[in-house]
Amino acid sequence: MTEIQATLAHWYEVHKRELPWRSNPTPYYVWLSEILLQQTRVNQGFDYFVRFIERWPTLADLAQASEEEVLKMWQGLGYYSRARNLHKCARQVVELYGGEFPADFEKLKKLQGIGNYTAAAIASIAFGLPYAVVDGNVYRVLSRLYDIDTPINTDQGTKLFADLALSLLDRESPGRHNQAMMEFGALQCVPKNPDCLQCPIQSHCLAFANGTVDERPQKEKKLKVKTRYFHYLVIRNPDNSVYLHKRSAKDIWQNLYDFPCVESERPLTLDEITASDYFKSLNLNEKYLISHISPQYVHKLTHQTIFAIFVEIKISFFLAKIQKYDILLALENELGTYPVPKLIDNYLHNTN
Ligand code: SF4
Repeated sequence: MTEIQATLAHWYEVHKRELPWRSNPTPYYVWLSEILLQQTRVNQGFDYFVRFIERWPTLADLAQASEEEVLKMWQGLGYYSRARNLHKCARQVVELYGGEFPADFEKLKKLQGIGNYTAAAIASIAFGLPYAVVDGNVYRVLSRLYDIDTPINTDQGTKLFADLALSLLDRESPGRHNQAMMEFGALQCVPKNPDCLQCPIQSHCLAFANGTVDERPQKEKKLKVKTRYFHYLVIRNPDNSVYLHKRSAKDIWQNLYDFPCVESERPLTLDEITASDYFKSLNLNEKYLISHISPQYVHKLTHQTIFAIFVEIKISFFLAKIQKYDILLALENELGTYPVPKLIDNYLHNTN
């Protein structure tokens, strides 16, 4: 056992909270507690756990319950698909394994609602198998201990921390080690203002030495992707000349050309498009024919996803100029000379 492993194990034995799934870590208890703790904090999770096992003392009992009963018991935790998965998983274990969880990481992972994290928890805590658990607490402890600035919510970070957790695992007592790491993160190496001066592994902690504790772990800010709906109006004169729109506003594709467009935050019906203020402002005077509506195009940009349709409109009279400063008439055979965004290029390509 390394010095860090030994120190953490000792700290855990002294400080761990007494919880029923710890004093009696059967696979059923470990699994149930892990699923509940993905939804809530330990205190509330404890109450739910007790209610579950009073009502359904064994996995077989839970498997026999109706889904409705399980959902009722789950009430207040939210995210009801987890409750359904819990119930399905209980039934799978009864059907496939006679009511006993398999002592096999890969088989555990194939059960409903069990991913890497839960499979590693059951495998190590209930069966003593050498799998490392990485939850939010473990990410925090490892990123500080080794002063790692790789964001934890990236593929690179996930792999790096999984490898590191495994390399640090006490293979003699993987269950205790995993619980010690998680408990240490929950009680000692807490997110804000950890008491580093009283920390038993302070002398090993690189973030403490480097003064970066508050900056660990790093997370990559996920960009909020905005969704926009463009309903393009491809208006053709009898001579096939077509109206283009020059994008002058401070927005995407500035100074490129597209078509007059009714934009909205949701998809519009044809009636809604023709009833819109923008459409009316074009003064097509009811003398038009909608000849085709394209399938939807999906165009992804870094910060936004655009869903576009192209409504092709023929006008029966020659409208030399639409009275809008940013709309111009282009001859069909000159369209290729205008700079257009990829979305418009794709559409033109598909129609020719
Ligand atoms: S010294 Fe502070 S940051 Fe480092 S492991 Fe201990 S509590 Fe966490």
